[in-house]
Amino acid sequence: MTTDNLANNQNNWTVTDSSGLYGLDRWGNNYFSINELGHITVNPNGQQSRALDLMELVKELESRNLKLPLLIRFDDILEDRLTRLHGAFEKAIAQYHYKGRYQGVFPVKCNQQRYVVEELIACGRRWHFGLETGSKAELLIALSLLSDPEALLICNGYKDKRYIETTILARQLGRQPIVVIEQADEVERIIAASQKLGAAPLIGIRAKLSSRSSGHWGSSIGEKAKFGLSVPEILTSIKQLRSSNLLHEVRLLHFHVGSQINDIAVLKDALQEAGQIYIELNRLGAPMGYLDVGGGLGIDYDGSQTATEASTNYSLQNYANDVVATIKECCEGKNTPMPTLISESGRAIASHFSVLLFNVLGTGSVPAEDPPPKHDEALIVQNLRGTLKYIQKIPKTSDVDSSKLQEAWNDAIKFKDDALTAFRLGYLGLPERAIAEQLTWACAKALVERLPQCDLIPEELKTLRYALSATYYANLSIFRSAPDTWAIKQLFPIMPIHRLNEKPNQLGHFADLTCDSDGKLARFIDNGQVKPLLELHKLKEAEQYVIGMFLGGAYQEVMGNLHNLFGSTNSVHLRLSYTGSYKLDHVVRANTKSDVLEAMEHDPEELLERLRIASEEAIQHGSLKISDAQRLMDHLETSLRESTYLHD
Ligand SMILES: *Cc1c(COP(=O)(O)O)cnc(C)c1O
Repeated sequence: MTTDNLANNQNNWTVTDSSGLYGLDRWGNNYFSINELGHITVNPNGQQSRALDLMELVKELESRNLKLPLLIRFDDILEDRLTRLHGAFEKAIAQYHYKGRYQGVFPVKCNQQRYVVEELIACGRRWHFGLETGSKAELLIALSLLSDPEALLICNGYKDKRYIETTILARQLGRQPIVVIEQADEVERIIAASQKLGAAPLIGIRAKLSSRSSGHWGSSIGEKAKFGLSVPEILTSIKQLRSSNLLHEVRLLHFHVGSQINDIAVLKDALQEAGQIYIELNRLGAPMGYLDVGGGLGIDYDGSQTATEASTNYSLQNYANDVVATIKECCEGKNTPMPTLISESGRAIASHFSVLLFNVLGTGSVPAEDPPPKHDEALIVQNLRGTLKYIQKIPKTSDVDSSKLQEAWNDAIKFKDDALTAFRLGYLGLPERAIAEQLTWACAKALVERLPQCDLIPEELKTLRYALSATYYANLSIFRSAPDTWAIKQLFPIMPIHRLNEKPNQLGHFADLTCDSDGKLARFIDNGQVKPLLELHKLKEAEQYVIGMFLGGAYQEVMGNLHNLFGSTNSVHLRLSYTGSYKLDHVVRANTKSDVLEAMEHDPEELLERLRIASEEAIQHGSLKISDAQRLMDHLETSLRESTYLHD
């Protein structure tokens, strides 16, 4: 469905049309669908029977004073992602008769929020699901929360002495940390720490593969990658570890192709290369036992199933099959025991369960109404009126001659320029200039309504569509809540969560609350492509218009910042019951203005006190009444305790 089809009859519009238009049926993974009321429903384990109406939920949360913008976390979906991931590997292992297991870990950097990590550990216990850390702070979370002695704790990232010694001691605590050597100089530090403590860690080696890659994170692989050892470095490290009597602790080979692998062919190459390195390490005397294929399992954000940036040309099952089959083939060829397979899938686990909801505060667009004529209008204005009449007489048919439309537009532009010149020279007043502007936009609108539905129309006329589109003001900071849309131009599915049984007949984009021209959402999924405008509904009097951003559970929160001092939104963790009701497990209130001020070292109390003194002075000078001074202080004090977003 394209924007041109917006001309379809309003009455024929159904929720199925909405589902197709916004791609919900392609990216929703059965977690999201639309009910007959035209509301999005959430189906926690992909089954419609327990569907929860998202719009109803918003109303109920708002009546608990949990106002929009709001982040809702569906822990059932998080659990279902884990179940599907393990299910896919179990199926592949059975199908290929793989003689080994799968044992996953969650990369903490993907979402470090306490309740997310705790929930994953609780749900993952049945598979001894573990964690992966990339810093000492993340290590502390993992060591403390992960108490299952069989779960793995993969320790990546740059490592100093304290990081390494902590992992050695944690092994004695009964945990299973594996220190992955990412830089050649970490070998010396591991040897020194082991000698000092008289104990050794479990050791892994990260290989810098030379397989090609693509996509945004493609540079995570190849000779120039930030992490990993080249083949000569691997051989040197093995020698060093052998002579320090630590070779028997080398258990794991690790590689990471980069996040969001779009093309499965990239993974296959990497797997073959890593499989051979694994076998060689085993032959060199390392016991091995684990092959860690890193992260990178992608999300089909636009549902196009293509190797484009917002998509993947493979499914979860394809991924598991390729990992299992490729490693099996490598090991069988060389008579090496098949390793336990580990993946560090972050995005694939944590994306679906979070839904970000925001309301629209208002809309803005160019003034394209046709102002009523007055007598003795300037000739320039009359000319524009004539052009508009001429355009309006052109019939709206599919075989309209676009050169005729272009000519009319050239006239309109010429008259508008004349009007500007006349204004500059003082011959045209401000009200008449305003009328000239309105008439020019009215011409543009009339032209766009007559554009034929084909690509052969002149470029200039095509862009008129964008010029006439509306700006929807979003109660949101993209820098706080959707930073990757700005930082790396990532696409997320974005759509209204209600009125989906109504045809959306306004094209628009979103502008956020920050005073930054980059603070906007103006790139939308389009089945393998990107579109600059989204089909939206006209706002209704006294009714909220609620938009959802989906699949954003990975990376967004921690990457978000306090630009313009907009803080975190309200967030809730929710579990669904079998009766279709739900339970709020955790409520995390939005940052207050005090919170964000303190983050910048301001003391809210001190700020208030200065203002109190200033208002006393104003009272003394007679410029401020005592009652107004009190009202001002009340506003400021209340505001400090409230969130940073707009409320009615
Ligand atoms: C970031 C990262 C991951 C997670 O990648 P996803 O694409 O989110 O699965 C896994 N392993 C390492 C080493 C990483 O740096």
